[in-house]
Amino acid sequence: MSEISQGFGTGRPVRVAFVGSECYPFVKTGGLGDVMYALPRALTREGCEVRVILPFYQCIPEKYKSAARYVGSFMMDLTLEGKTFYVGIMETEKDGVIYNFIDNREFFDWGNPYTGLWEDIPKYCYFSKAALAILNYLEWIPDVVHCHDWQAALTPVYLKTRFAGTPVGAARSVLTIHNLRFQGICSIPHLKYWSGLPDDLFNYPVLKINEGEANMFKAGLALADRITTVSATYAEEIQTGFYGEGLNTHLSYHSGKLQGIVNGIDVEQWNSATDSLLPAPYGPDNVLERKRENKHALQERLGLEVMDGKFVIGLISRLTDQKGLDLVNAVFQELMMDEGTQVVVLGTGDARYENAFRYYEGLYRGRVCAYIKYDESLAHQIYAGADALLVPSLFEPCGLTQLIAMHYGTVPIVRETGGLKDTVARYNPATGEGTGFSFDQYRADLLLEEIRRARDLFFGDRAAWNRIVCRDMSKDVSWGNSARQYLRLYEDLRTR
Ligand code: ADP
Repeated sequence: MSEISQGFGTGRPVRVAFVGSECYPFVKTGGLGDVMYALPRALTREGCEVRVILPFYQCIPEKYKSAARYVGSFMMDLTLEGKTFYVGIMETEKDGVIYNFIDNREFFDWGNPYTGLWEDIPKYCYFSKAALAILNYLEWIPDVVHCHDWQAALTPVYLKTRFAGTPVGAARSVLTIHNLRFQGICSIPHLKYWSGLPDDLFNYPVLKINEGEANMFKAGLALADRITTVSATYAEEIQTGFYGEGLNTHLSYHSGKLQGIVNGIDVEQWNSATDSLLPAPYGPDNVLERKRENKHALQERLGLEVMDGKFVIGLISRLTDQKGLDLVNAVFQELMMDEGTQVVVLGTGDARYENAFRYYEGLYRGRVCAYIKYDESLAHQIYAGADALLVPSLFEPCGLTQLIAMHYGTVPIVRETGGLKDTVARYNPATGEGTGFSFDQYRADLLLEEIRRARDLFFGDRAAWNRIVCRDMSKDVSWGNSARQYLRLYEDLRTR
């Protein structure tokens, strides 16, 4: 237990309520779900008391829904006209973290878990407000309410306004940006109606972005006591026009309360030595032999030519513009001119990328597999069986896939942006140092060149390649350091 959580301030553990729209294993569409799972657990190990507040979505697997117990309910007003809505509270505990689900069928019976922005705006107005209301109802008043992304961005706004005179109003707020691309923008009347927030907040410093529209994320960033994002580089990037998604000036204005804290991964969940989804689990001592077995199993499962002497490149990703797939698309045929290369794609997303990868699978039978699905078990097998993992993102707030890959001894090939830049050190042949391969400008020719550099090392100097594999496996990508940085931030807020 860290002395920070106990030693200063009030002398009792720091209490934090996490508020966010997804959390593994209940519901996950991307990295946010991983962080909402792993960071509370890491904070608990540091001596914090943590509750995670989530919607009780219809799409949560039945086994988790039936394991949650009912702890109470009340009616809460929302909307401009003060319409009241049911708020049910369900509860589950796992490894010292308490999960409180907010139950309301009107809002949470649709979507997977998201629907479309028009429906999601009311859903997350309700959620952001109900999260604070349940803390008052439960009489569990945190030191800090830690909110995540646009779906929870109105929570700091409600905290400073509607809840200011209530018990939870004493809490401070942190808002973390996991991805600035999604902001919760809609017409002013739509948000005015659903949020029920006072007119004077619909101004340019807080909610308004133009004469007709309001932005939930912008308002949260304005009123949160602190803003964090998931890497130091992304914290800088989002203050520029290219990466700022229209909020760069707003973020520069608030930069005094903005900091980057890089994500980790849960090393119990991602443990190649105990991973029951792997055909041949392994640790740092036997990675080289066992990775070969995992590679063969992966090739066999996916209908690829089963051979050790192939350079297997994995890509596990949402198939969207963010992920640099237009670059991959542009060089794919040139890449496949090398008979020694195999490519495995796991992902879902935009039809044009899904179809492009399906097309390549048909064109290069036995050398390319396009698995257009969300599949947790195959993801584990690719992390273990591939030689390299490709993450050529246009922007990447932190990125978890390169961290998981390194932890599984799979060498990342990334673009130097956001967290990719902060977590992968480019291989330097002169010194032998480095944890992966990387290129700077967003250009297809640079991507191809870097993949070829990696492939040439793999085929040309296997001993040097293996040293990178072993270095990656021993790199600390756990949450420990970052959780302690969050704890310092909470402690600092508590003593103010
Ligand atoms: P983002 O949050 O932008 O989607 P991250 O790299 O932060 O990207 O996190 C992605 C997470 O989702 C990782 O845990 C990755 O393994 C997982 N993931 C992405 N696509 C799939 C898929 N098709 N099947 C299984 N897991 C996936």
